[in-house]
Amino acid sequence: MLNFELYNPTRLLYGKGQIAEVSNLIAPGSKVLLAYGGGSIFKNGIYDQVKAALSDFEVIEFGGIEPNPHYETLIKGVALAQREKVDFILGVGGGSVIDGVKFIASAIYFEGDAKDIILKIRRVDWQTMPYGAVLTLPATGSEMNNGGVVTIVETNDKMSFSGEPLYPQFAICDPTVVGSLPIRQIANGLADSFVHVLEQYITYPQNAALQDRFAESILATIIEVAPRILKDPKDYDAAMTYMWSCTMALNGLIGKGVAQDWVTHAIGHELTAMYGIDHGRTLAIIGPNLYRVMIDSKKEKLAQFGKRVFAISGQDDETIALEAIEQMVAFFHSLGIQTTLSAYTDKYEDAADRIVKRFNGRNWTVLGEKKLITLEKVNEIVKRSY
Ligand code: NAP
Ligand code: FE
Repeated sequence: MLNFELYNPTRLLYGKGQIAEVSNLIAPGSKVLLAYGGGSIFKNGIYDQVKAALSDFEVIEFGGIEPNPHYETLIKGVALAQREKVDFILGVGGGSVIDGVKFIASAIYFEGDAKDIILKIRRVDWQTMPYGAVLTLPATGSEMNNGGVVTIVETNDKMSFSGEPLYPQFAICDPTVVGSLPIRQIANGLADSFVHVLEQYITYPQNAALQDRFAESILATIIEVAPRILKDPKDYDAAMTYMWSCTMALNGLIGKGVAQDWVTHAIGHELTAMYGIDHGRTLAIIGPNLYRVMIDSKKEKLAQFGKRVFAISGQDDETIALEAIEQMVAFFHSLGIQTTLSAYTDKYEDAADRIVKRFNGRNWTVLGEKKLITLEKVNEIVKRSY
């Protein structure tokens, strides 16, 4: 196992009725920027619960943060927060709102062109505004991690940024919010969290026995809970398990002491920027093909995944690894997610060339846990995904 440091200061409140606790988690007298998305919170009662919990605070609202949040929108939130001199931000939404809040919190005290936070600096190490999150869509783990993804629409750059000051102070995860989610978003969340685990697990063996078991248990749990939560989003126990699996998939714990890949995400972000495909779906398109192309360096872990998660037995490692990839694809299909680019767009032919060009422009020429994913490999992975 590799050396590691574990730090996660986010206070997590899980379960029914926890939104009311917001009032005890924000310093008395704070002026709060309440940030949210396109309005789902008005239909499902979450807005009313949050407003009731904030009744003792002065609240300024900033709505309209879109999926795959836009820099162009968020910068207006930065100006509003500065103008109103707020002291705290409360993000109420899915990964897009929480990531958007991370950007606003970073940009408020940033001197210079805030675009550079995403395009150039990408590692936030200055004072940021404290914030909390009320999660409405289990998927990203953003409620308990220090990373975010923001799109600059003008240049079509969808880029991640992160930094220690960017952990939420608290996150409230009430599984009853799952009850109002469209099936499409639940499927996205299941795929996204599944691939978050794979990015930290399908690398190469590092004698990280406990980390491997953590990863495998989350993968197996996601597979087990998926049909239950898709069948009945109001099944409280299934919603709790789904939500907790998504948090655990990307709150930092399972990635400690092991190598990480994250190239499925890097390529997936390009597909969202180019075609508007939902984040979770881009991962289901790219992930299996990345594993097919990189099978030589990932064979042992893919075979372990096949044996322990899908109970494949009785063959050599390469055969089990290939079968595990097929089972992974079958799992995505069981969520109703299509796994080829051509299922989403007719204009896929130049995708590989465009992505390679953009990666090259950013000097992303050798990627993945062993730096074996060259631009030639990226080209092959994307073409296989057509
Ligand atoms: P999302 O983009 O936050 O939300 C998708 C849609 O779901 C929105 O239209 C939203 O509507 C709706 N929605 C949310 N909660 C709902 C509810 N309870 N009931 C009904 N509708 C609801 O989806 P996401 O998958 O959570 O986030 C995706 C973003 O996160 C992408 O940009 C992705 O790149 C990023 N991401 C971040 C991380 C990280 O670690 N930070 C990791 C992976 C991905 P409203 O807008 O109307 O609320
Ligand atoms: Fe993701």
